[in-house]
Amino acid sequence: MFAVHCPAHGTRVLIWSSGVEAVRNTDDGIEVDYRCTCGHRGTWRTGRRRSERARLTIAKDAGAEYGVMRPPLAVSGSPA
Ligand SMILES: [Zn+2]
Repeated sequence: MFAVHCPAHGTRVLIWSSGVEAVRNTDDGIEVDYRCTCGHRGTWRTGRRRSERARLTIAKDAGAEYGVMRPPLAVSGSPA
């Protein structure tokens, strides 16, 4: 469920899952085509843009590499 401004109602309305007609992943984020209870159709955009997702992935991967590059723990003694 999500809230959108419906021009036919002239106010914000809740769209239930039964009002969702399509969901697409695009470079601009997630597009949800919906139909309001009054019949008005629209598209709600949510999620992150592709460029923002890529930046977050690079930052996450850099953190993972840093973890791999940490010096190994010193091991003292040897198994008997
Ligand atoms: Zn409406």
